[in-house]
Amino acid sequence: MVRAAETGQMVAGRLAAIEERIDAACRRSGRSREAVTLIGVSKTFSAESVREVVEAGVRILGENRVQEAEEKMTLLSDLLVEWHLIGHLQSNKARRAVEIFDMIHSVDSLKLAERIDTNCREAGKRMPVLLEVNLGGEETKAGVAAAEVPALCQRIARLPNIELQGLMTVPPFLDDLEAVRPFFRRLRELRDEVRRLGIVGPDFSHLSMGMSHDFETAIEEGATFVRIGTALFGKRGVG
Ligand SMILES: *Cc1c(COP(=O)(O)O)cnc(C)c1O
Repeated sequence: MVRAAETGQMVAGRLAAIEERIDAACRRSGRSREAVTLIGVSKTFSAESVREVVEAGVRILGENRVQEAEEKMTLLSDLLVEWHLIGHLQSNKARRAVEIFDMIHSVDSLKLAERIDTNCREAGKRMPVLLEVNLGGEETKAGVAAAEVPALCQRIARLPNIELQGLMTVPPFLDDLEAVRPFFRRLRELRDEVRRLGIVGPDFSHLSMGMSHDFETAIEEGATFVRIGTALFGKRGVG
């Protein structure tokens, strides 16, 4: 059994190492550190572990299931943090998601966007959202095809109660980071293309991409949000 003070130190050490790598990737690519925001992906990790990473300095938490997130939020309501939904959202859970999350990265259909918009109107809330793109064409993954992105952005951007702020992707898991790079680059090109078309607002700037094993490559290609779980919390399942 590891004592809380020790695990707290381990978390602080892991966060410092991640921060150093983010800094270095920003320097390599001529980007400012402020352009990249770290999301601590707390799915499957206990409320106690989440408290430790927040005490170490993480300000945004990412969860992929509404119910799991809600349970932790209840236990951690004293913390000043943002909660972002990064996993697939079923329409019937959209209302609750709108109530409890600060941002939704995983909008993957017009129907879901419309549902979130309606729920926002009812809740008197405006929700920042990202459109999730499935660039690898993997059947097991959520997200819209690249070819659909401009038309979908145009329609989602017109919904009055949500704020379309950019794109999100989970590329294929590949050990060779140079093989992952084209997926990140493609997402940036898609964002730039949509902006050029003038069909979205000025806030359409975000690229949510990069996880524990590939976040530096994602930053080099323009990531504005990196979603980091295991590199921060330790191995999933023991947290
Ligand atoms: C789990 C998850 C992450 C974090 O993955 P790690 O490899 O643990 O960093 C990032 N994004 C999404 C959508 C996830 O589901």
